[in-house]
Amino acid sequence: MPAEEERFQRVWIVHRKDHADDLWSIRVRGEEKLSFQAGQYATLGIRDGDVMIERPYSIVSGPHEDEIEFFFELAPKGDLTPALHSMGIGETLWMGRQAMGRFTFDDQSGRRNHFLAGTVTGVAPFVSIVRKMAAEVRGGRAPDHRLVILHGASRSWEFGYREELQTLSNDSSWFCYIPTISRPWEDRSWKGEVGRVDDVLRKHLDRVGFDPATATVYLCGQPQMILNAKGILHRRGFAKECIREELYWAPASGEKT
Ligand SMILES: Cc1cc2nc3c(=O)[nH]c(=O)nc-3n(C[C@H](O)[C@H](O)[C@H](O)COP(=O)(O)OP(=O)(O)OC[C@H]3O[C@@H](n4cnc5c(N)ncnc54)[C@H](O)[C@@H]3O)c2cc1C
Repeated sequence: MPAEEERFQRVWIVHRKDHADDLWSIRVRGEEKLSFQAGQYATLGIRDGDVMIERPYSIVSGPHEDEIEFFFELAPKGDLTPALHSMGIGETLWMGRQAMGRFTFDDQSGRRNHFLAGTVTGVAPFVSIVRKMAAEVRGGRAPDHRLVILHGASRSWEFGYREELQTLSNDSSWFCYIPTISRPWEDRSWKGEVGRVDDVLRKHLDRVGFDPATATVYLCGQPQMILNAKGILHRRGFAKECIREELYWAPASGEKT
């Protein structure tokens, strides 16, 4: 077996949903089941001649689901997303045989409150975590953790999973979804929260009563949001071990995370 096929399996796109011109989700199936923990990522690849172009993508689906779901943002000059964006149902790509990453749910520290803050596609690992918990609660487990997702985008049509998360938020005592937009002047009918994730993070942490003694905070997506949010959290007393982070791309040179 060629080295690449030891690392990757071929998967088929079985579903595609476009949320905006540059934001879409797919579901894939392969012959081999990918086992993963909620919050982890898989590597996706497309072969370009002899070269495999590969990138990591957070898994949206819960571990109990049969298909693996991803949520993408198009980087118009990127190496991989323009090719992924052109693909439809029935087409194949490569997916790593092993899920990776340590951006998983904190069920070890004893903290029962979880504040999950992400920008645009940075909601992907949080959807996986929440779907897993919702499935457990449906199966009869008493909810013993409280979760809040603070999800930022420029405009409301970029949230991708708003309907699913809002419905769950309305129907459950253990989960709350807060979408916030940073360009309300481009989305005049928006009635919800306004501001960047890092602008409104402290307000919502305090409002739900999450403090450093009881809460773990998860930050995912844009490096600048993560950098700013970490400063705010440190000033609020959150120690390093209470903060988990997943940067989707390297910060511009000169920025420290
Ligand atoms: C652990 C991990 C999980 C990730 N999960 C996701 C995911 O679920 N969905 C997703 O769309 N991306 C995700 N990414 C980013 C992804 O791996 C690629 O970097 C991205 O899709 C761009 O790939 P590209 O080859 O098209 O562009 P590249 O040539 O690799 O990148 C070009 C530029 O695009 C910008 N960029 C990269 N990612 C994003 C993004 N998500 N949104 C906006 N701008 C971006 C950056 O400025 C980057 O320098 C993740 C990254 C990491 C490290």
